[in-house]
Amino acid sequence: MGEVKSFCTKALSAAKLCTYCGRRLSVFGGRFDTKVKDFIVPLSKGGEDTPENTVASCKECQFLKGDYLNYALLPMSRTRLLGDIRRYLAEIRQLVGSRSSIVDLPSSRR
Ligand SMILES: [Zn+2]
Repeated sequence: MGEVKSFCTKALSAAKLCTYCGRRLSVFGGRFDTKVKDFIVPLSKGGEDTPENTVASCKECQFLKGDYLNYALLPMSRTRLLGDIRRYLAEIRQLVGSRSSIVDLPSSRR
């Protein structure tokens, strides 16, 4: 188990692309493509901070995903949950339009 754990930790720190949208990840803070650690099953919904539940994600995907979780796919199958989250994010992006990022909008704007 220790080996798997260190492999996943390395994979996360070595990741160059967002697991969800495939965009190139930046190491600079404050940008939408900044690399962040995301939990496939959100911590708020019983997910654990384990390598199996962790992916490299861009900031925007993490924001859009929020605490989304498809309970129908539990118990956790990493592959199926990832596929489902990608579909979910693609739907949201279609709704908000591909040109704009909703992360971009100041909260006060109407
Ligand atoms: Zn992304």
